[in-house]
Amino acid sequence: MEEFVFPPPKPVCIPTDKGVKFPVRRIFCVGKNYADHVQEMGGDAKKDKPTFFTKPRDAIVLSGRDVPYGVQSDDFHYEGELVIALKSGGCSIAHENAMTHIFGFAAGCDLTRRDMQREAKQAGNPWDSAKAFDYSAPIATIKEMREVPQGILKTSINNKPRQEAPLSQMIWSVPEIIVALSGLFELKAGDLIFTGTPAGVGPLKIGDRVRVEIADLPVLDFKITDPKS
Ligand code: MN
Repeated sequence: MEEFVFPPPKPVCIPTDKGVKFPVRRIFCVGKNYADHVQEMGGDAKKDKPTFFTKPRDAIVLSGRDVPYGVQSDDFHYEGELVIALKSGGCSIAHENAMTHIFGFAAGCDLTRRDMQREAKQAGNPWDSAKAFDYSAPIATIKEMREVPQGILKTSINNKPRQEAPLSQMIWSVPEIIVALSGLFELKAGDLIFTGTPAGVGPLKIGDRVRVEIADLPVLDFKITDPKS
């Protein structure tokens, strides 16, 4: 009988609106995918192309669960984002086939230790400490759907609106993201893609309530807690 050194980790799963669970394989993220957010970060939307980074799957936090404030950070930011959930994948996917790989969509939040990201950018260092830390990827229930949701992405903190933008403002559309990513990585069933955030990002504090609402997708809602308690 095959034995493990220690019990293998349990799969990370996200609930879906159909009741079945979505098992997560990898988490890809798009940076700089809304022009007005590129500008608020001090970039040039005409010159800066969207970029990719990743988060580990155990960064997932389900909606309704508490999220500890980012440890060793003094500038912990929310980024409300539309998330693509893939049911299949491949390499170098053609544009006309891109949508056939989608299981559905969810509301997500790309939590960011902005102070560490600023330092990494200045030093030319990787973004892992700023982006790929524990509890950095809260996500709501996935809605099974074949079409890209149309409408508004809205993030509110303690019921005050902070981000409000039409999804049509994305620089790279959903199929364009799948085409570009699949040219760099083999995509597979279970992959999630956070598609970038619009303008209005900002700092969180302990006790804040974060809510991300996207068109008619299930709402993402979580509270920031003290990591020391
Ligand atoms: Mn982001």
